[in-house]
Amino acid sequence: MTITSLSRKNIQALTPYQSARRLGGKGDIWLNANEYPTSPKFELTLEKFNRYPEPQPQSVIEGYARYANLKPENVLVSRGGDESIELIIRAFCEPTDSILYCPPTYGMYAVSAETCDIPQITVPLTADFQLNLAEIEKQLDKVKVIFVCSPNNPTGNTLKRSDLIKLLQITEGKAIVVVDEAYIEFCPESTMVTELVNYSHLAIVRTLSKAFALAGLRCGFTLANPELINVLQKVIAPYPLATPVADIATQALQEKGLQQMQKRVEEIKQNRQILQNSLSNLPLVEQIYPSDANYLLVKFKDGQQVFNALWEQGIILRNQHNALGLANCIRITIGTQTENQRVIDAITALQSSTK
Ligand SMILES: *Cc1c(COP(=O)(O)O)cnc(C)c1O
Repeated sequence: MTITSLSRKNIQALTPYQSARRLGGKGDIWLNANEYPTSPKFELTLEKFNRYPEPQPQSVIEGYARYANLKPENVLVSRGGDESIELIIRAFCEPTDSILYCPPTYGMYAVSAETCDIPQITVPLTADFQLNLAEIEKQLDKVKVIFVCSPNNPTGNTLKRSDLIKLLQITEGKAIVVVDEAYIEFCPESTMVTELVNYSHLAIVRTLSKAFALAGLRCGFTLANPELINVLQKVIAPYPLATPVADIATQALQEKGLQQMQKRVEEIKQNRQILQNSLSNLPLVEQIYPSDANYLLVKFKDGQQVFNALWEQGIILRNQHNALGLANCIRITIGTQTENQRVIDAITALQSSTK
């Protein structure tokens, strides 16, 4: 009997999340994980490591609550937004319940459900990457948790607010609606936080990995009403945040950290516009989808060729060819101006060599 065959059947069948790091590549230009190209600087102020940390560090919770215009009892901090996704599934889904999500979207909803052996129902987004509410409504019978992502990864668009409200209305008393706002800092006016007063079954996922430029910190949040937060408190690990993580997160959420984040967001949005303009002049580019986030989804005539050619040159992008409806599409994280120009130059060179 092999060790593998002793593992749970669903784990034997599981394809782990194809994270940017796991996919590898050898490069000097990393535009495949929606990270910020440089690191903010912090110094540790807490230097006592012999004691366990606070389970929910007060300074982090209060800092994020202030930033999100909520009360501390509306906030749960976890090891990245990814842990929030899994906590919600573990806390709410019986083995016979399903989750529902709308591809093409973030891959962790499926991977977390598979890990927990929870069935999945998918209702594809419409051609303009919006919710298909009529179809979702037909599927609600066994659904306990619905994941929607706005701005959506990898398409970059936000979901219509009126659709999200309608979704909250048709699911009331039946299911939890999770709105993944990992990229909300790039379009803060679209947040659903303001609906928390109206809907106790709404949970919002946030992270410090994107606009805060702290993907290496592994720090994320769930925003919800206290009753929902308390359910998640029951299943979260006793000490999810290491002391240095809490220390740096606290600093990132102070006034100065927030100002730096906002400056970064403005710079990324400018660079996104420049990259979009340059791409639109390239003959190999078929379509650039409008983005409210720190990446662009681009459809090429031959996306595989572009992806592989740039990969060989050490420019690592995110291939979306196998995502539902996204044949020949590549997701490009907004990098520095120099990095973005390298992308343009490489695609331009490819164009002349394939003529
Ligand atoms: C990056 C991301 C997250 C969370 O990432 P963490 O690094 O685990 O905080 C969640 N949802 C989406 C859509 C993301 O792109």
